Amino acid sequence: MLYAKWNIIMDYINKYPDNLGKFGEFGGLFAPEILMPALNELTEAYHKYMSDDDFLEEFYQILKYYSGRPTPLYYAASLSEDIGCKVYLKREDLNHGGAHKINNVMGQALLAKKMGKTKLVAETGAGQHGFATAIAGAYFRMETKIFMGEIDIVRQAYNVYRMQLLGAEVIPVKSGSKTLKDAVNEGLRYWIANVHDTHYLMGSVVGPHPYPLIVREFQRVIGKEAKKQILELEEKLPNYIIACIGGGSNAIGIMYDFINDKDVQLIGVEAAGEGKDTVKHSIALGLGRKGVLHGSLMYLLQNEYGNILETHSISAGLDYPGVGPEHCFLKELGRLRVGAATDDETLAAFKKLSLLEGIIPALESSHALAYLERIKEEFKKDDVLIVNLSGSGSKDLDIIKKHVDFKIK
Ligand SMILES: *Cc1c(COP(=O)(O)O)cnc(C)c1O
Repeated sequence: MLYAKWNIIMDYINKYPDNLGKFGEFGGLFAPEILMPALNELTEAYHKYMSDDDFLEEFYQILKYYSGRPTPLYYAASLSEDIGCKVYLKREDLNHGGAHKINNVMGQALLAKKMGKTKLVAETGAGQHGFATAIAGAYFRMETKIFMGEIDIVRQAYNVYRMQLLGAEVIPVKSGSKTLKDAVNEGLRYWIANVHDTHYLMGSVVGPHPYPLIVREFQRVIGKEAKKQILELEEKLPNYIIACIGGGSNAIGIMYDFINDKDVQLIGVEAAGEGKDTVKHSIALGLGRKGVLHGSLMYLLQNEYGNILETHSISAGLDYPGVGPEHCFLKELGRLRVGAATDDETLAAFKKLSLLEGIIPALESSHALAYLERIKEEFKKDDVLIVNLSGSGSKDLDIIKKHVDFKIK
């Protein structure tokens, strides 16, 4: 494959993010002065512990014995026949908690504990990151507060209950639109006031430096495993890696260790909602303009005045108006190919995987599966694909049940 900017890509692994937390012009540290000491403390601790073998060993032991890693790389024979090439699924849905999010929360909570913090705070929209953080809070015996918009609390009652069962306190946010971005603001406000004993646990590769770097490094385990597994199974690298993109953590997690492998196409799939010609979508990489949100420069869905647009997707986990700065840069370098799938395509892919493979995928992950259908003409029979199955669909059944296609006869 030909890349105009291959020299930059070859150097990529050693260079980004730079010392200011930038990926090219993206990312950075657009945070209020009052947060700087906390972010600097976190950056220092991160560098110290990521070069500490004992820390890394403890992290990998937790992933192995508590979360169940390595997750299988499964050859989906029936789906392969249907699509017309070899499709492998990286089974992140088999992690404890039912998704890849556990990799990041256990890493960050362990880091926080080493830093002497005793409390965790996080925000959540759909409740999945709140649920994952509540797991980490219980495991490490750390008091955990989850900020959540009042509207989301009603919409996601099942996840609220799960968090409470694990001992976390769910704090309703009544300001603004009473959803995710207001919950982030309230969470950060709380952190500023309690930074001495509290770690803010970021849920994806977004936010100010060092968060995009930290979350990526904790999620890289997905791609490291997948590379080893595919070399064992196929004795070659895959032709394609495909993952859904909300903030971008499962995608960068599986893709990062393949960035320098020229012949591996990397495809990120965003939520096209009801379609890109409507206002109801979440296609930040594909349609957004550069702007700053939650401390970082990224592609962002905004109106002509720079106000953040409300996003829409059938899967709450992809409902974020921006996208991680690293993905923005990889797109600009031509290294990341960007696609999208609509709600309808996603539901069809969800149904297909359930029936063909006996695996009920998360609606987020179903976007990646849906994209296979869109581009299946370009696959050759011997092509090897890896789709990151970021999570299980058990959490989505209430939404699924509302769609006519899923009435049980
Ligand atoms: C949260 C979530 C996502 C989206 O987050 P990323 O940071 O883009 O990975 C995707 N899939 C599942 C199952 C999730 O829970």
